[in-house]
Amino acid sequence: MAATLETRLLPIVSGQQQPGTAAVTRSVPLFGLHAEALAAVNARLGGPRFRAGQLEQALYRQWAVSLDEMTALPKPFREQLHAAGYTVGLPEITETFRSTDGTERYLIAGLDGQTVETVWMPGGDGREEGREDDEGSGSADAPPAAGAPGDTRGRNAPQRRATICVSSQIGCAVNCQFCLTAKMGIVRNLTPGEIAGQVVAVLKRQGVHLGRDRINLVFMGMGEPFLNYDAWVGAFRLLTGPIGLQPSRMTVSTSGIVPGILRFAEEPVRPKLAISLNASNDAVREAIMPVTRKWDIAAILEAVRAVPLRPREKITFEYVLLGGVNDHPHHADELVRLVRTAGFPSYVNLIVWNPGPGTSFAEPAQAEVDAFQNRLISRGITAYIRRPRGRDIYAACGQLKRTTR
Ligand code: SF4
Repeated sequence: MAATLETRLLPIVSGQQQPGTAAVTRSVPLFGLHAEALAAVNARLGGPRFRAGQLEQALYRQWAVSLDEMTALPKPFREQLHAAGYTVGLPEITETFRSTDGTERYLIAGLDGQTVETVWMPGGDGREEGREDDEGSGSADAPPAAGAPGDTRGRNAPQRRATICVSSQIGCAVNCQFCLTAKMGIVRNLTPGEIAGQVVAVLKRQGVHLGRDRINLVFMGMGEPFLNYDAWVGAFRLLTGPIGLQPSRMTVSTSGIVPGILRFAEEPVRPKLAISLNASNDAVREAIMPVTRKWDIAAILEAVRAVPLRPREKITFEYVLLGGVNDHPHHADELVRLVRTAGFPSYVNLIVWNPGPGTSFAEPAQAEVDAFQNRLISRGITAYIRRPRGRDIYAACGQLKRTTR
């Protein structure tokens, strides 16, 4: 199954170009390039070495949208960049949908004009208890450079908290039966710049001040991050490096791509991990997540055990409750056994299935959701119910399909 999935992924844009190594014949986005690549661009244009650092600052701390906005760079150098075909290439929000609960869903245009979805959830990601499983220091994100858009020095505005849900692919090949994104199939992988650029585009729109505000990221939007691993991890490094967000406030979710989990386990710096489990046994999981045929629950848990957890860190099990499918009391009991024997600290996030056109599941009643949670809790399993966010604008979990209304 995985071979099928992987061969179905057509990386139309699988990574960034290699500036500095060949003549630039078409527009090359700078956003998404790491320090070494920016140094290569600078060297190619004959700039002094410090110029590459200025370029990095302009891209990732000042969030310039055009070369003209990079006023810290001398005009002749900006003209050289332009003449050589370089553009900023920061993804652009083309449409915004605002929910009654304050959630915003964006269509964000990538390099070829194809759109991807990103969601801004003020106040958090909808976990009912409002708890954050954050083993980090609790401080705000790294302060921006003086004069940058995020520079808050001298301002006394209250701290804002929000979660941004980020996409890693346009569409998805995993084909979870309860998910609207799956209906698109896989269109293409996103590049590192397109993934990190979603975050910067939203931070900019929201006027986020990184020295003050608490921003969580969840890689739980369109696509399976671990089927676009290189680009996803490249984006993660940009976000935690020059952009200045904290890895401990980020979570990546996978449907259980075992090779991806094993690579993740080797990362020296990484976000938290969530497993999109959604079933308490392989038979149910295979019916709703065909990827289970390739990697069953036991294989996924074994891979997760290879991830060295930080003190107090827990793995999240995401569990979408589908009425009559996986929400019976015996499923809760089976889930309890599974979590107890997993061999690593964890908790369960229960997500009530969000309806959408073309999906034929039933939404469980609130009483059944509460009963499921209580059954877990009474047996010693930490379980939360995630409040759906932005349902009225198709922004909730499993609803991202580039809906334009
Ligand atoms: S739930 Fe996630 S992995 Fe499954 S089809 Fe939807 S986007 Fe892909």
